[in-house]
Amino acid sequence: MRRDPGVVRLARTGELASRIDRARALAGACRICPRACGVDRTTGERGYCGAGGGPTVYSHMAHPGEEPPVSGVRGSGTIFFSYCTMSCVYCQNYRFSQAHEGRDRSVDELAGLMLSLAGRGCHNINLVSPTHFLLPILEALATAAERGLNIPVIWNTSGYESSETLSILDGVVDVYLADLRYSDAAAAARYSDAPDYVDVARRALVEMNRQVGVLETTEAGVATRGLIVRHLVLPDGRSGTRRALGFIAERLGRETHVSLMAQYYPAYRASEYPEIARGISRGEWDDARAALAEAGLTHGWVQAYRGGEVSPIAGTELRADDPPEEGPPDGGPRGPGNPG
Ligand code: SF4
Repeated sequence: MRRDPGVVRLARTGELASRIDRARALAGACRICPRACGVDRTTGERGYCGAGGGPTVYSHMAHPGEEPPVSGVRGSGTIFFSYCTMSCVYCQNYRFSQAHEGRDRSVDELAGLMLSLAGRGCHNINLVSPTHFLLPILEALATAAERGLNIPVIWNTSGYESSETLSILDGVVDVYLADLRYSDAAAAARYSDAPDYVDVARRALVEMNRQVGVLETTEAGVATRGLIVRHLVLPDGRSGTRRALGFIAERLGRETHVSLMAQYYPAYRASEYPEIARGISRGEWDDARAALAEAGLTHGWVQAYRGGEVSPIAGTELRADDPPEEGPPDGGPRGPGNPG
C-alpha cells in the first residue's frame, strides 16, 4: 500500500506545526547548522552562510539528470537555494552558493513553486542546499501540504547537518540525498572551511540512515523513502574515497545506495589550489571504483569517466551525464550530482 509522504502525515497530526516552532526557536539564535552563529535569522540577521530570513531561490526545474530513482521519467522537482553553510573552493554552483545570485521569495511563493513542480508531474520535491532555509522551507511545505502537495520530499545536502536540525526533519524528509565529501579534517578545513565536517557528516549520515533506512522505490523504480550517499572523487586523493566508502559500508551497511561521482572539475577558486586544479585522472577514477568494490557496496550508481573533460554543470545547466561506460552494480543508468 502506498504510504503518504512525511509532510502529509505530519501536517495531518499537527506535528508539522510543532516542528516549525522548533525551527523558529533554532533560527532565533541560529544553530541551524553546526557553525552555530547565534544570530537572529528571524529578523533577517545574517551569519556565516550569509542567508537572510526568507528563502532565496536561484532556480527550479523538473530535473532529468539526478540519480535514476530521483529523476524517474518525469523529472525531479528541484529547487536550488542560494547561499550555503559550506565554502567549498571548487563549488560548481558557486554563482548561487557563494556569489549569492538568486531571488528572495516569500514563503507563499516557495510553496507555489513546490506545487507548480508537482503539477508538472515531478516525482518529488528536491531541495538542494536547503539547510540554512530550514524555517521558511518547513513553512512552505506546510502551506503546500494544505494545498494538496502529496509527493516525497528530498533533502539534498552537503551532509553538514546538526543533530537538532535532523531531529526537526525526522519524519518530514522522505529521502536524504547526502554527500560524504572528505575523510580527514585537514582536507575539509582547506577546501570547505569546515574542519569538523568529517565527524559532523558521519554522525549525520548515521542519523539519516536511522530515520529513513535503505532506499525504497515504487514498482516503477521511483524513490519513495531512504538514503542515497553521494561521494565526489577529488584529485590527489583529497576526498579520502577509500575511507569514505569503508565508513559507508561498515556504519551504514553494504546495502546503502551510493552515487560515486567522477564529474569534478576545478570550478570557482580551485585553480588557487594546485593539487586540485585539474580533473581526476583515469587512474584515480579506476582506484575509486576499485575501492567501491573492495568496500562491498553493490547498490547505487557510478558516473562515466570522460578523461577529465567533464562539461561544466552549474545552476540551470544541470543536466544528465553521458551514458555510462559500464553498467552500475544494479544495472541502472547513472545520474550526475549537485553542488560540489
Ligand atoms: S545556518 Fe547560517 S547563520 Fe545559521 S548557524 Fe549556519 S551558517 Fe550560521
